[in-house]
Formats: sequence, C-alpha cells, structure tokens
Amino acid sequence: MSEESGSGMGTDFIRQRIGGDLDAGNVEGGIVTRFPPEPNGYLHIGHAKSICLNFGVAEEFGGVCYLRFDDTNPANEDEEYVHAIQRDVRWLGFDWGDRLTYASDYFEQLYQFAEELVRDEKAFVDSQSAEEIRIARGTLTKPGQDSPYRSRSVEENLELLQGMRAGQYADGEQVLRARIDMASPNVNLRDPVLYRIRHIPHQRTGDTWCIYPTYDFTHCVCDALEGITHSLCTLEFEDHRPLYDWVLDNINVNFHPPQIEFSRLGLEYTVMSKRLLAQLVSDARVSGWDDPRMPTLAGMRRRGIRPAAIRDFCGRIGVTKSDNRVEMSLLEFCVRQDLEAVAPRGMAVLDPLLVTLTNYPEGQTEELGAAWHPQQPERGERQMPFGAALYIEREDFAEEPPPKYRRLTPGGMVRLRYGYIIHCDEVVKDTEGRVTELRCSYVAESRSGSDTSGLKPKGVIHWVAVHAAVQVEVRLYDRLFKVAAPEGQDLTDTLNDASLRSVQAQVEPAIIASDEPRFQFERVGYFFKDPVDSIAGSPVFNRIVTLRDGRAKGR
Ligand code: ATP
Ligand code: MG
Repeated sequence: MSEESGSGMGTDFIRQRIGGDLDAGNVEGGIVTRFPPEPNGYLHIGHAKSICLNFGVAEEFGGVCYLRFDDTNPANEDEEYVHAIQRDVRWLGFDWGDRLTYASDYFEQLYQFAEELVRDEKAFVDSQSAEEIRIARGTLTKPGQDSPYRSRSVEENLELLQGMRAGQYADGEQVLRARIDMASPNVNLRDPVLYRIRHIPHQRTGDTWCIYPTYDFTHCVCDALEGITHSLCTLEFEDHRPLYDWVLDNINVNFHPPQIEFSRLGLEYTVMSKRLLAQLVSDARVSGWDDPRMPTLAGMRRRGIRPAAIRDFCGRIGVTKSDNRVEMSLLEFCVRQDLEAVAPRGMAVLDPLLVTLTNYPEGQTEELGAAWHPQQPERGERQMPFGAALYIEREDFAEEPPPKYRRLTPGGMVRLRYGYIIHCDEVVKDTEGRVTELRCSYVAESRSGSDTSGLKPKGVIHWVAVHAAVQVEVRLYDRLFKVAAPEGQDLTDTLNDASLRSVQAQVEPAIIASDEPRFQFERVGYFFKDPVDSIAGSPVFNRIVTLRDGRAKGR
C-alpha cells in the first residue's frame, strides 16, 4: 500500500479471529483472502469496505489477497467493468500481484465436481420449469415438495447433465440441483440449483459453455481451490453458509475455508445497489458511472476525493455484524482531514459582487503576497493582483445584517484577506432594488503585514481583483438523494434535483497557472480540476466538499 495510507483499522472480530487462528497454528502457509466482485458494474464505497478489509488483513497478517472476478452470469457482465474494477482497486492502494483470477478459470473443475456429486447421488437433473421449482420450494413456514425427478438414476442424471453441457437443451429446460433436504428450515438447503442452461456467450470463455454454475456452487469451490483461509462476505450470505459447507463437505477437495460474515456498508442519501446505480446511469440521471455525485470509486475519484480519505473512512466505520447506515458527514470529515494539509489555498468568488474602491488611484495595480498554505510557509507564496475594482462574495455583504454578522455592511468595515481594510460608503442598486455595486474606500496604511492603521475590523473576507480575475465554471454538488434511505422508493420522488448546480466563478490567476489539481478556495471549500471536462488554461472545478460540517449550504 502507498505510504499515504494509515487506515488504522484497529481490531475487530475478524482480525481477532484471524489472529487467534494464527496463534493456534491453524493456518499453514499464511493468510489468504480474496475480493470477489461480479463484473456487472463499477465499484462503490461499500466495495471499498470489503477491499480494505480483505487486502488490509492480508497485508497486516503477512498474507496475500486475490482479486477474483465472479463472472458466472454472462448476461450482465462486461469487460468494461473488469477494467474499471482493476483500476479502482489499484487506485485505492492495493496490489493483488499475480493473483488475478476469474471464476471462469475454474469452469471445467466446477463441472467435474458437479459430475462427482451426481455420481455420489448428491445431485440430480430436474426437468421441472423454473415456476414449478419455485412453487415446490415452500416458504419459511411451509416445507418444500420433492421434485418428481429427484430419484432419477445416476446414469440418467449423468446423461442429462452431459446433454446440458453439450447444448442439447434450451434455456430453462433442465437444471442441476443438489439433493439435500426439501424440508430443511433453511430454504437455501432445499435442493438448491447448481447449474443453469444459458445459451449466452461468455466474455472470457466464448461459446465453450452453455451451462453456468450458480453463485452458491461456484464461490465455495473457488475459495477452496485458491486456498482461501478466511472467506469474508457480507451478512446476507449468513443463511447460505450451511450450503457453502455442504458443497465443500460433499466434493473431493482437501481445503475447506470458513465463511465469516460482516455487515454491509450503507451510506445516507445514496444507494449501494449496483442495480440502482446502473439504472441511474442508463436513465441518464447522472452523466455516467464516474459522475462526481455517484458513490462509486470512479465518481469519487473524479470529484477529487483521494484514496487515503476513503481508506481512513473504512478504518473509522470498522467491521461489525450489525447493519447500519453511516452518516455522510463522516465521509466528509475524512475528506476534509485528508485535504487540509495537502491542498494549497486560493481565492475564488462564486457569486461575485462588484466593489469599487473610490480612493484607490485609477489605473494603478499592485501585487500582494499570499501564502499557498498558512501552516506550511515552505510552500511559498503567490502574488495576488490588486486594483480599484474587486469582486467579493455577494453573501459577504448584508444591507440589514443579522446579529453577529462580521462581514461588510453599509457604513461598516472589513479586512480583505492578505490585503487592505475597506469601508463601505455607498450601495448601488438597479431598478429592481438588487445590489449591483458597493462603492468603498480603502485604508492605505492597513496593508496586511505592514498595518499601521490601528483599526480592528471583526471580519476578514476573500476577494479577487477584476482586472486579473479568470472566469471558470464551478460545479457545486449536493446529495444525490433527498431522503436518507432511498431504496425501494421511486427515483423520481427521491432524487435531489439540486444535486448539481453550475456557477461561473471568478478566480485569482495563480490558481489557473498552477499545476495543482486540488485547492482550498478560502472560506468556500475544497475543489478539484475536473479531469474530463477541463481543458488547458480553462479548468472546470468540482466542489469536493464544503469547509464546514453538515449540510452543503446553498452556495
Ligand atoms: P449488488 O448486490 O448490488 O449487485 P454485490 O454486493 O453483490 O452487488 P459484488 O460485486 O458481488 O456486488 O460484491 C463484491 C464484494 O463486495 C462482495 O464480497 C460483497 O460482499 C462486497 N460488498 C458489496 N457491497 C458491499 C457493501 N455495501 N458493504 C460491504 N461490502 C460490500
Ligand atoms: Mg454479489
């Protein structure tokens, strides 16, 4: 992992268990874990939790971690996702070395295990329709019914299974099922399906197969073949664990990993389901999987969040067995923490209001030195052009100030950061009563660093000189959803229409000249040059996060 890590995962029940297994000498040859994504979408922050856990424990305990694509469902899978997933895992800071595998690497072995189950009378070919199978499955309170095909002979089953493989049947005509117990209180053990017929070419195996193993059959076998010492998965698989164990107990494989479940990460005001995220993309509710509002790693990267912040977040949420939805403010906290020391400062005015200094010599300009980072003088300074016409933030002026307002008011004073103290003498309005200009005077002897004025205004505001300002597009992001838990509700009712607002901002020229990708716009927030839509000399800025905790304000 790169040195900017420091996730400080602490200790949790999984790490305790692994430590205990190592101490007890139960793990020969070191810890082996895997991260097993299905290549049917982009990775999201929930996956990051699983990646940080699987790769993290391997690293901490001196073991290794596989990146294994769970590619058993060719209908929804795509090479685009295979590439995106690798890029995202690497970006997060993890390395699988030469341990990149695919469930499809094991299709032949899986098939041989299936024949073995048939020979041992542990599996049979069912010729019922999917609907008949579903009805006969029973419910949580009612046992299921044995299939009429359950007692086929080994010979007949083998012939049918081989016929399935050879393409003699149409999709859905036959399935291979385990023969376990139709009365089991655990519905996963009621003769679960192991193979389905799908006449769909596979992105890696082409037309070689027209039958595909189910997740429950595939996952445990792959884990065993790869020698996974701890198979970590999310809680919804808890009820599948008996099936995981049944398969490995009933085939001839000499390794049996324990499956250990932990809770999924949920995050407020967004969704983690790949199906829903794919729908947002296909319905064009967002610009793509990497839209900066998406909870995907590609979206977060494009927004400007750094991997260290995501790892820190995953460390802070920890690993437990209780499902919960984490507040967005925790993620934002981690992002701010990470950027505080990294991002240079700069000034940008998002909602400009013109200030004219009536006593500043016309046509004169000067340059004011301003530190790139107030706590890191070694990073040097940039020169901020100053002149008689300036932009300040519209909300930094109030005609009728609320209590404790520390910014500019009619007749009041404020300091321009790194500049002078100004005094507001006159408010100019248009015919509709909207303020269009403030006519102010500046205090010549109040220049920052050599102030002899003796004046002590309460507020300090940011500004940009009109003659040198560069206008850029700034994209202000807010929550993607209006409700904390949007799953199961209609997108049209829950999506936040104001999740993206684009404004034309005025920024100081040093920001444009700099190669730095991220800035803290003083008093405004952290911003990132959009890597897709920026062009040389004309960046587009994404707001990564506001400066203060809580809900993004209107600006
Ligand atoms: P979906 O159910 O939305 O289609 P999935 O969770 O099944 O997606 P996979 O690609 O199978 O997606 O996930 C790969 C791994 O990431 C799995 O081990 C899964 O348990 C884990 N994972 C997925 N979502 C989360 C989450 N929200 N929190 C923690 N781990 C997760
Ligand atoms: Mg899955």
